[in-house]
Amino acid sequence: MDCLFCKIIAGEVPSDKVYEDEDTLAFLDINPVKPGHTLVVPKQHFANLEEITDEQLAKVMSTVKKVGESIKNGLGVEGYNVTENNDPIAGQVIPHIHFHIIPRKEDDGIKLWPGTPYEEGEDQEILSKIRIF
Ligand code: 5GP
Ligand code: ZN
Repeated sequence: MDCLFCKIIAGEVPSDKVYEDEDTLAFLDINPVKPGHTLVVPKQHFANLEEITDEQLAKVMSTVKKVGESIKNGLGVEGYNVTENNDPIAGQVIPHIHFHIIPRKEDDGIKLWPGTPYEEGEDQEILSKIRIF
């Protein structure tokens, strides 16, 4: 399969590794939103959250937690965002699931999405479509 992140995992494409274990790899994003922006991937190829197994996802999130702590301590930042762009419509360019860890500081200029309150009854209509229990 012609997957860039599989090639990075295999060492065929170089990367700046932050952490590696049997199941996961963390490496610097080549085009960081902020310095230290790191990507965490499972070593097995899964396209997105629908494909990845719960077991592998738990391992990836454990690495996200480790690397997040290392970024906080090492860079002296106050926090970080963890994001996963799930599918092309959401901005996913590389179809090998990955979590972005983006270091955050006071007044760093990053704006998150704006929210808009629900219209009367809209929340219940949405809920009836997506509620799982
Ligand atoms: P996505 O948009 O799929 O959520 O994120 C893909 C990320 O991969 C982008 O932030 C992009 O900068 C990063 N990226 C693309 N190509 C490479 C590469 O060859 N090496 C590394 N380290 N990061 C890459
Ligand atoms: Zn892959």
